[in-house]
Amino acid sequence: MKHYRNYIQGEWRESSRRFDDHNPVDGSVFAQVHEASQADVGDAIRAGHAALAGAWGRTTPGERAEMLYAIANGIDKRHDDFLAAEMADTGKPLAMASTIDIPRGAANFRVFADLIKTAPLDCFRTDLPGGARALNYTVRKPLGVVGIISPWNLPLLLFTWKVAPALACGNAVVAKPSEETPGTATLLAEVMHEVGVPAGAFNLVHGFGPGSAGEFITTHPDINAITFTGESRTGSAIMRAAAEGVKPISFELGGKNAAIIFADCDFDRMLDGMVRAVFLNSGQVCLCSERVYVERSLYPRFCEALAERAAQLRLDWPSDPATQMGPLISAEHRNKVLKYFDLAREEGARFLAGGGVPRFGDARDQGYWVEPTIIAGLPDDARCATEEIFGPVCHIAPFDTEAEAIARANATRYGLAATIWTSNLERGHRVAEAMRVGLSWVNSWFLRDLRTPFGGAGLSGIGREGGQHSLNFYSELTNVCIQINQETP
Ligand code: NAD
Repeated sequence: MKHYRNYIQGEWRESSRRFDDHNPVDGSVFAQVHEASQADVGDAIRAGHAALAGAWGRTTPGERAEMLYAIANGIDKRHDDFLAAEMADTGKPLAMASTIDIPRGAANFRVFADLIKTAPLDCFRTDLPGGARALNYTVRKPLGVVGIISPWNLPLLLFTWKVAPALACGNAVVAKPSEETPGTATLLAEVMHEVGVPAGAFNLVHGFGPGSAGEFITTHPDINAITFTGESRTGSAIMRAAAEGVKPISFELGGKNAAIIFADCDFDRMLDGMVRAVFLNSGQVCLCSERVYVERSLYPRFCEALAERAAQLRLDWPSDPATQMGPLISAEHRNKVLKYFDLAREEGARFLAGGGVPRFGDARDQGYWVEPTIIAGLPDDARCATEEIFGPVCHIAPFDTEAEAIARANATRYGLAATIWTSNLERGHRVAEAMRVGLSWVNSWFLRDLRTPFGGAGLSGIGREGGQHSLNFYSELTNVCIQINQETP
């Protein structure tokens, strides 16, 4: 049995309160997670402040960049360990974890190492009418101790997406991975230790949200900023906690993302793209398309083709390189998804594919699997067409005009991402810009440049991270203004 411990002030800390870590493929328990107490979280935050007051607080951007490269190399060196831990926690297929989760976890450190070395800062010379002159320049400083809370769907990738820029900017962090996926974050702490990240600069605490490590972090008076990825409802709770003390927050939240498919698209390319957009990671990516709008002339062909592809997806053990889809993260999450399938039936949906639980006749029958599922025939205001389900499922509806498609795609309180499929260049630009989202893809999906802004509108988040946007969130910027002559301003 593995043990996932807390990492506080450069040391591993056990806890008498432990919880089970399940493998979603077959429901087996393979690790014990040591839940951090309120005192542990307090110690981690104190360790962060001590690191800032000590050697870590005196590091230069160049030195921190070298540290980040070493962390990235450390992840690469232990690639197989990270891969095994991520697959055990999530059940996601090797084909995905080895090409997306683990390499992107390392890439996040390299990207922010590169950026912090070359990050531009403002400099303005002011010339006032009476002759006074001044030089203004910006100084970038850390915010302090940043609380990082991440979800289970892309555990290493989303954890490092915040840890890397926070450290690049010279902050100390107290980070909590999801209780469902503590594995790769714990390995990352081992790498931090191995490469010599100063004690207290990176602290890892395990636990749940309310009444546990998540709440202890967000309500602690000495946390200086909070960055969170997860459900919109959790975002509201964290925002209330952050209001006390007016803490800076950055939120990447849920979505109910639209795909708009025009009849003039390259059908085969679009179909491949939509299979990914609906079923990647069993639909457990915040960017997945759950609402698909298809131009009416293409609607029957698309419905049939996507249903056929859904039925062909290979659901198998994660270690098999040919596996295309794994289970859901937990029994609880599967119940939620299955309840939406029941609700869709009550709401009058037609099931074009799936709608149930696959049977394997082996240990996987104790896991948390659901079939790739496609529904149709619901009105736009049905609950299954408006609420985030976060499973391998989409609803397909026909549309007649571009304006109608845009209006229906935007008729949501979420606003994370959209994907648009057309061969008409002008229309691609026009529709992409009209989407009220943080990220519009044209003829693609989940194609990311880590330097670009990432975040959502409406219920999907507050602020943008990525590239320079991350550096700005994780920094306190001070403008220094020096008068360079004697004239009275
Ligand atoms: P979640 O909100 O249930 O949990 C996320 C994290 O918050 C976990 O670590 C959890 O322990 C912690 N938490 C829960 N309640 C808390 C509280 N009251 N105070 C402090 N911490 C608390 O989300 P999840 O189920 O892990 O992840 C799935 C959700 O995340 C989906 O809604 C998905 O769309 C969203 N998501 C968004 C993005 C994005 O970039 N916008 C990316 C991935 C996932």
